Amino acid sequence: MHRTGSQDNRPAEAARIVRAVAALGRSHPDRILPDIPLSTVTALRIGGPALGLIWLRNSVDAQQFLEIARDAEIPAVCLGGGSNVLADDRGFCGLVGVMADEALEIRGDTVRAAAGIPLDRLVVESLQAGLTGLEFASGIPGSLGGALVGNAGCYGHEIGEFLREATVLREDGRIDTVGPEAFGFAYRQTAFKESRDLILGAVLSLQRGDLAAALAERADHLASRHAKHPVELPCAGSWFKNLPPAEPGGRRQPAGALLEAVGAKSMRIGDAGVFSGHANIIVNLGRARSVDVLALAAQMRAAVLDRYGVRLEAEVRHLSWLAAPPWPGDPWAFRG
Ligand SMILES: Cc1cc2nc3c(=O)[nH]c(=O)nc-3n(C[C@H](O)[C@H](O)[C@H](O)COP(=O)(O)OP(=O)(O)OC[C@H]3O[C@@H](n4cnc5c(N)ncnc54)[C@H](O)[C@@H]3O)c2cc1C
Repeated sequence: MHRTGSQDNRPAEAARIVRAVAALGRSHPDRILPDIPLSTVTALRIGGPALGLIWLRNSVDAQQFLEIARDAEIPAVCLGGGSNVLADDRGFCGLVGVMADEALEIRGDTVRAAAGIPLDRLVVESLQAGLTGLEFASGIPGSLGGALVGNAGCYGHEIGEFLREATVLREDGRIDTVGPEAFGFAYRQTAFKESRDLILGAVLSLQRGDLAAALAERADHLASRHAKHPVELPCAGSWFKNLPPAEPGGRRQPAGALLEAVGAKSMRIGDAGVFSGHANIIVNLGRARSVDVLALAAQMRAAVLDRYGVRLEAEVRHLSWLAAPPWPGDPWAFRG
C-alpha cells in the first residue's frame, strides 16, 4: 500500500523507515549491512550512509531484497557500479541493493551475462572468445545492468543495439524475459529508467568479425579515454546529456562545447570542480559534498542557458536522502 503524503509528514515517515530498517537489520544481521557510506559504492566517492545495504549475489537475493522492501514499505534502490549516480550527503533513507552477480556464459555468438558484471570485463571476455561488437564500450565504467538501463554508448554505438533479451525482476516479484522492444532504447534512455524493475541479466548477440580490428579499436578507445577523462579524480562521466542534432539524422552536439565556451572549466564550488580536460565532467577534488556538486551543476547549466538559451539536461542521477511522496515514493531527486 502506498500512503499519500505531503512534505509535512517527512520527518515522521523518515523515523518510521529508520525503525523499520533497524528491525530488519536485527532479523537479517548477515544480509543487511547498516550505515554503509554510499561514497564507497559510487564512482564520485560522495554520499552519506544508506540505512541498509545489501549485496545482490544472485536472483534470489534480488527477489528477497524487493520483497523485504515491499513488505515493510521501505524505499529501495538498486545500484550497479554507481558510476552514473550522485548520492546525497545525508545518504539514503532506505535500502540500497548492489548488483554483485557477475556470472557469464559464452556459447557460439551468444553472450549470457548477469547484470552485475562490469561492462569492460564483458568487452574483454567477448573479445577473448573471438566475438566482436562491444569494443565501442571499452573503458565505460559500471555494470551491464546499469549500461542497459541507461543505454550507455559512445563512438556511434549504444549497448541496446546488441540486446537479444533480458531477464527482469518486476517490482511485484515476478521474473520476466523481455526483448529489446520492452526497453524502448533511445539516447541514454529506456523505459527501465522510469520503473523500479531490476535487470537481472541479459543475452547479447555478437559476431565473429575482424578480431584484430576490434582489438585495435579497443586500444584506441582506451587511449582516448585515458587522455580525455580524469584518471585519478573521482567523477560520474559526462554530467549533462549531449544536445539533439541540429538537423535530422545529424550528430548530437556535445554539451561540453557550450560549457567550454562559457568558461565552465574554471568553475569550482568547494571541492567540486569542472575537470580541466573536459568541460562536461564534474570531479571530486577531495572532500566534495553533494550540495557542492549540485550547486556547481546549477552554475554550469545557468551559464549555458544565459548565453545560448539552451537548457542542459542532467545525465547523472541524484539519489536523494528521502523518497518523494507518495510514500515509499520515487528515490530519485532527479533522473537523468
Ligand atoms: C570516467 C567515466 C566515463 C564514462 N563514460 C561513459 C560513456 O562513454 N558513455 C556512457 O553512456 N556512460 C558513460 N559513463 C557513465 C556510466 O559509466 C554509465 O552510465 C554506466 O553504464 C552506468 O552503469 P552503473 O552500473 O555504474 O550504473 P549505476 O550508476 O549504478 O546506476 C545508474 C542507474 O541505473 C540503475 N541500475 C543500475 N543497475 C541496475 C539494474 N541491474 N537493474 C535496474 N536498474 C539498475 C540505477 O538504479 C540508476 O538509476 C561514464 C562514467 C565515468 C565515471
